[in-house]
Amino acid sequence: MASLYEIPIENINGIGTKRGQLYRKLDIDSVGALVRFYPRAYEDWSKISDIAALTVGETSCIKVTLSTPVTEHRVAGGKLLATTNVSDGYAYMKIAFFNNKYIKSMLKMGVEYLFYGKVTSSGGMREMINPTFAKADTGNVIHPIYSQVSGLTTKQIEAAVKKALAMLPEKIKDTIPEYVRNKYNLIGLKDALLKIHFPEISDDIAASRRRLIFEELLVLVLGLSSIKSMPSKLSAVNIEKDFTEDFLKLLPFKLTNAQYSAIKDCMSDMMNNTKAMNRLVQGDVGSGKTMVAAAVAYSCIKNGYQAAMMAPTEILAQQHFQTFDNLFKDTDVRIKLLTGSMTAKQKRLVLADLADGEIDFIVGTHSLISENVAFKNLGVVVTDEQHRFGVRQRSDLLEKGRNPHLLVMSATPIPRTLALMIYGDLDISVINELPPGRQIVDTFLIDDSKRMRVYNFLKKNINEGRQCYIVCPAVENSETGLIGVEEYAEEIQKTVFKDYSVAVLHGKMKSADKDDIMNKFIDGQINILVSTTVIEVGVNVPNSTIMMIENAERFGLSQLHQLRGRVGRGEYKSYCILVSNAGGEEVGRRLRALCSTNDGFKIADEDLKLRGPGDFFGSRQHGLPELKIADLAENVSILQDAQSAAKEIMSDYIDKQNNNYRGLRAEVRMLFHNVGHGQQLN
Ligand code: ADP
Ligand code: MG
Repeated sequence: MASLYEIPIENINGIGTKRGQLYRKLDIDSVGALVRFYPRAYEDWSKISDIAALTVGETSCIKVTLSTPVTEHRVAGGKLLATTNVSDGYAYMKIAFFNNKYIKSMLKMGVEYLFYGKVTSSGGMREMINPTFAKADTGNVIHPIYSQVSGLTTKQIEAAVKKALAMLPEKIKDTIPEYVRNKYNLIGLKDALLKIHFPEISDDIAASRRRLIFEELLVLVLGLSSIKSMPSKLSAVNIEKDFTEDFLKLLPFKLTNAQYSAIKDCMSDMMNNTKAMNRLVQGDVGSGKTMVAAAVAYSCIKNGYQAAMMAPTEILAQQHFQTFDNLFKDTDVRIKLLTGSMTAKQKRLVLADLADGEIDFIVGTHSLISENVAFKNLGVVVTDEQHRFGVRQRSDLLEKGRNPHLLVMSATPIPRTLALMIYGDLDISVINELPPGRQIVDTFLIDDSKRMRVYNFLKKNINEGRQCYIVCPAVENSETGLIGVEEYAEEIQKTVFKDYSVAVLHGKMKSADKDDIMNKFIDGQINILVSTTVIEVGVNVPNSTIMMIENAERFGLSQLHQLRGRVGRGEYKSYCILVSNAGGEEVGRRLRALCSTNDGFKIADEDLKLRGPGDFFGSRQHGLPELKIADLAENVSILQDAQSAAKEIMSDYIDKQNNNYRGLRAEVRMLFHNVGHGQQLN
């Protein structure tokens, strides 16, 4: 099986360069990948209906012979129409195909066919238009349906899969050893592959799915555990003294109890000499996670170590840098910023100082994990908005020290099972309290009819000295009716807001331009910042009080909540205005859920309920590879089995000499190659 991944898809009869490209669009580049391209659904052709009993509008299957040969003619618009009449011996009906020049040669008189499709009616006669069909004696009654791309139909994929399956060796080596299969009640690999594509009865689907889901989750768990840092390793970092009380003196405010206890959790982790800290701090937007990071970094630095904080965007890194620079201005903490947009010379200077230990605290983006970054004595790694990073990125940063302490911060509540899988054996502190005096952001849902009123409301706030964000879902206007920031900003600058200063911010801009705009906004030189979701995470401008979100229906609730978290960060009353013309009960219900609560954890729950796990578990967001068949939210019990199995086979699996696991290792590499670390997994 593993070797089929090395046979290019074009080796299958009937697939040339051109069609090969279509397969590659579906991420199928080899025969092996095609075999692993599972159907997205099935059509059950086992129930055959009598023509006389067909109901218009229903999808049905009939078993018939042609009673007239196929005739072709051109219809309005030049379309080719091929029609025939068919009979099941009792009644007749019409079958029609549009624009398929092959039908005439494919359908023959005297052969029994199955037609499967939606029943319509034409001139008093039952009809099927463009049904799928097969010879009645082919034996398959359950037909696979594949995701298709334009130019490649599910029928064509089905035919190719048949050929690919025929290329499987007589006996293939199973990826899962027999004793594990027996223990967890799993059918063999070849059996599963044949049955997932061409099941004979519906039990075949269930059995093959179970086996393949198990296998995929096992592969996921094994892959993650190989790239995960080993959390129980002894830390070479000795934190002997807790400097939190000194740190508190630097603050212009008093910490909340929740912040304080999160810091204490971290300190006791770091001062426990048996293992490195591996802690997740979860706290809603605005709960003050940054100060927890600052306190932890401060103690670490005072104990003679370096601290590193990694943020997912340049804007956020820049902002954290300014916060810390300001906070530590009267101390001897030497702090520097490192981002991708700095000049080579600037970077060189920072890197040299970092390696020499001339920098105590480095704040940066992904640049921090570039190869040429070296620390003198890294003590703690903090990653902000952790859900934005891949597993690999975090462990890369950790590898820059001698098993330093790790603090990950996230505003996204992650279910515990998933958290454990992603982060390994981590501890969690929850900041369940907002700083005092925090404004509850009033949230409203409006449609276009109130737009002018809202614009006037923005003006009123700006005239009082405040600032506003307007978020649009796209950079450029799109055909699908999405509003793009560029045209939007231009339009309002010319019209309603001609006496105000409007600026644009989006991810495709040059870093220097982004910084420039952001700095002007922080300085108050810009009244309205029209932005994409680049401002979603972390941005902190307490003077902005209105967050207006266009096409609000396009965003997930948790994302809207994050955006809303950009306002209400200072002493002023703040507002979030969701604009949506999408209508629809479902959309309204979702958006109103946001209007009625400010609790991020409740909202995440609601999101999960309303939108299903798909978005929430959006794998890329967590740095997990994309799964083909398993669903982390739905297959929880299979996941647990796979986790136990992984533990049982681990020592053999990691033994490279053990050939029994070559297939499984190949699958691990395949699964992870898209998230960019297939190489490291051998
Ligand atoms: P988040 O948890 O979303 O990262 P931040 O750390 O950005 O939140 O904090 C949000 C704002 O609250 C910042 O302006 C910060 O200075 C302020 N803040 C943090 N802790 C407190 C506190 N204990 N009292 C008052 N303001 C605080
Ligand atoms: Mg933050």
